[in-house]
Amino acid sequence: MLEFNYKALPWNILFGAGALQRLPQEIEKLGFERAMVLTTPQQQTAGEEILQLIGTKGAGLFSEAKMHVPAQTLKAAKSLADEIKADCTISLGGGSTTGLGKALAAKNSLPNIAIPTSFAGSEMTNIWAVSETGRKVTARDEVVVPTLTIYDPELTLTMPVGFAMVSGLNALAQAVVNVATDKPNPIVASMALDGIRALVSALPRIKADPDDFDARAEALYGASMAGAALGTGSTGLHHKLCHVFGGTFNTPHAETHAILLPHSVAYNAAAAEQGTQRISEVMGVDDAALGIFELAGILGAPQALSEIGVKESDLDEAAAVVTEQSFNNPESVTTDRVRLLLQRAFEGLPPEAV
Ligand code: NAD
Repeated sequence: MLEFNYKALPWNILFGAGALQRLPQEIEKLGFERAMVLTTPQQQTAGEEILQLIGTKGAGLFSEAKMHVPAQTLKAAKSLADEIKADCTISLGGGSTTGLGKALAAKNSLPNIAIPTSFAGSEMTNIWAVSETGRKVTARDEVVVPTLTIYDPELTLTMPVGFAMVSGLNALAQAVVNVATDKPNPIVASMALDGIRALVSALPRIKADPDDFDARAEALYGASMAGAALGTGSTGLHHKLCHVFGGTFNTPHAETHAILLPHSVAYNAAAAEQGTQRISEVMGVDDAALGIFELAGILGAPQALSEIGVKESDLDEAAAVVTEQSFNNPESVTTDRVRLLLQRAFEGLPPEAV
């Protein structure tokens, strides 16, 4: 018997080639007067172009966004926002910049306009985070959902193809965990499955031709649907593993997702049989976990934890930290089995039920 609860999020999305050009009129409609643009140092020039585009509605640029929103960065951004009397933020960038905009919305009630340039999908979720003294604390709050998200696929064209591949696999993970579950939610799963379909179709095309604009646009749409699934759905072992590696061993976010996803899917496959089968069907493969592993190989993504700075001697600690506290997951999670999973992921072996 089907049983579920679905709580929508207040998404407000503009999607299309050239959609960025509508930013000035959208700011006008929303009634903002003093926008602070947020970017990473790498995207500062693109941030300056946004300031030019919005003219007198632009109050300043904070170009120090960093991965996982360090508390110090949040504090510095807040000081500038106060100094220039910002009444909203415009985050132009990947998940790190979106994350800063969301943290400013949560802590300082500054509404945010998100203009995503990677496939992180964070703009569709209610999850926000701040990191301090090596610990990343995350929470869910609807207030961090951007007032407006402008998806302009043209902005993804500058994303280097290597990063586009792991960023797309990060998105795939958000969708996959919301289908391969023992508590399926049909509305969340429909967004997730469409996200998987789009990503699995688009990413190999971007790999083959980095300038394939239709493929970039389809991947951005897929990432949006994957983010929507994560925002209205749930997480389990996979996100716990990635959180521990990112937080404790400082591994790069998207790469960590890319490496661990096939292994966490294999771990849960028996307990989430129907959902896992639906992923296989939409991917056109016999085995979802192996299909994802092979896709990562085709995309040239890293496939072993050893490739991203993890040492074999870290694995015992990682397995212990992952299982310190219990969390929702289709299959029961034990330290021994997580350690076996991690050994395979460390060596870059194909996924297997452990
Ligand atoms: P990122 O935002 O750190 O981007 C990586 C680098 O690529 C940065 O230097 C960025 O400026 C650059 N970049 C991004 N788009 C570009 C483009 N089009 N052209 C050129 N350079 C570009 O990395 P990410 O993987 O997008 O985001 C990772 C962060 O997002 C992590 O902190 C993660 O926890 C968070 N995240 C949060 C959620 C959520 O729901 N809260 C979801 C996914 C990711």
